[in-house]
Amino acid sequence: MAVYLCHEQPHLYEHDALIVDARPGAVVLSRSAFHPGGGGQVSDIGKIETAQGPVGVTHVEVDGDTWWHVLGDPEARLEGDVVVSVDADHRRRVASLHTMSHVLNAFVFEEFQGSLVTGAQINGDGTGRMDFDLSAIDNDRLRALAAPVNDVIRRGLDVTAVYVDSEEAAATPGLVRSMSVAPPPTPDGRLRLIDVDGLDRQACGGTHLDNTAESRPFEIGKIENKGKHNRRVRFRLGE
Ligand SMILES: [Zn+2]
Repeated sequence: MAVYLCHEQPHLYEHDALIVDARPGAVVLSRSAFHPGGGGQVSDIGKIETAQGPVGVTHVEVDGDTWWHVLGDPEARLEGDVVVSVDADHRRRVASLHTMSHVLNAFVFEEFQGSLVTGAQINGDGTGRMDFDLSAIDNDRLRALAAPVNDVIRRGLDVTAVYVDSEEAAATPGLVRSMSVAPPPTPDGRLRLIDVDGLDRQACGGTHLDNTAESRPFEIGKIENKGKHNRRVRFRLGE
């Protein structure tokens, strides 16, 4: 995983760029503040402003190191200098839900003796889910974790990204808690950790809030049994 522009400058929502490759309905940019998605998180959405007007970007398609910004108009052919905008509301919804999924993960890990995440999905509409390797537990105990998660929102804990040596991180128990969503190290062997102050440290390449107080309330919806060792917890942001 490279260090993305959105990792270096998480509050950059608009910038200039040059189109370096194009096909009808998609472009590659010289630089992009978009998050390309991954680890279950949807990509950013936004728009690209050209001399002819704005064109929406519906998602990013990752092809190796190349990010195709897929346009709302499949016929659009863009070229030259452009202004790139990331949809800030979409980013905030995804970052909120993603940050609070770390908090939920921390409480599940604590409550159920080291249970790991087997999958996650963070959508653009304020809904998401996580799968945990849990068997033979009472779903009400899982549902009850919404209360301490909302308490973390009220307490307003700082959320920061730190980079550590990946070998050192691998030797720290509980740090890479997810079986499927942990990001690979950066080319120089560092791992990006998201630190929720005093509560959780977790390897992750996604987008997050700066403080848990920025999140809307966290609601747990349906809990499903997906196979013998798998619980799927659906959640969403409340009003
Ligand atoms: Zn994350």
